[in-house]
Amino acid sequence: MPFTIAVDGPAAAGKGTLSKGLAAHFGFGHLDTGLLYRAVGCRMLGGEDPVAAARSLLPEDINRADLRTPDVAQAASKVAVIGDVRAALVDFQRAFARRAGGAVLDGRDIGTVICPDAEAKLFVTASAQVRAERRYLELTGKGQVVTLDEVLSDVRARDERDMNRAEAPLRPAADAVTIDTSDLDIDAALSVAIAAIEEKRPAQG
Ligand code: C5P
Repeated sequence: MPFTIAVDGPAAAGKGTLSKGLAAHFGFGHLDTGLLYRAVGCRMLGGEDPVAAARSLLPEDINRADLRTPDVAQAASKVAVIGDVRAALVDFQRAFARRAGGAVLDGRDIGTVICPDAEAKLFVTASAQVRAERRYLELTGKGQVVTLDEVLSDVRARDERDMNRAEAPLRPAADAVTIDTSDLDIDAALSVAIAAIEEKRPAQG
């Protein structure tokens, strides 16, 4: 039976790790919708028109290994303000959300725009400093050369753009459960999230 878990929040709040954990726990599919915008951003950096890129996105664009760089992240948040880019990506996300085995989608507008009727909605956040420190460790752990200050200003610039755009701005859905992960490790955050979702699930067995 379809069951959609919408997970929204700002950059590097822990949405990805949490969503993967939820998908594994419930046996659901997982879609990191940021990858769609990153793939479009990447093609824009290669010289393409972002709307044309969004309309012709292919699985191999989303599976590229080089989507998780700071430059691609900034490009993603720039193409994400364009209404026609967002519109081109809606159907794919909605189809995934209603897949038979259940779905977890993480992004910025899943609970508000893509899946306003999602059975469970989470808004995952943390202070900008904590998010920058986590992203810094992740990037340097992969061998990328960045400073903490650069990562913090990247996170702040994306927050600013994501929260203040006209189309689908980042904000919690009215019926979302907010989880602040500033002082929670991943296991603790996952337990809180599972408890919140269990409340929305039909009784099993
Ligand atoms: O989540 P991630 O950091 O990979 O997202 C990259 C960018 O894509 C975000 O900063 C945001 O601008 C955009 N995005 C969006 N809507 C989504 C997912 C991502 O606008 N559902």
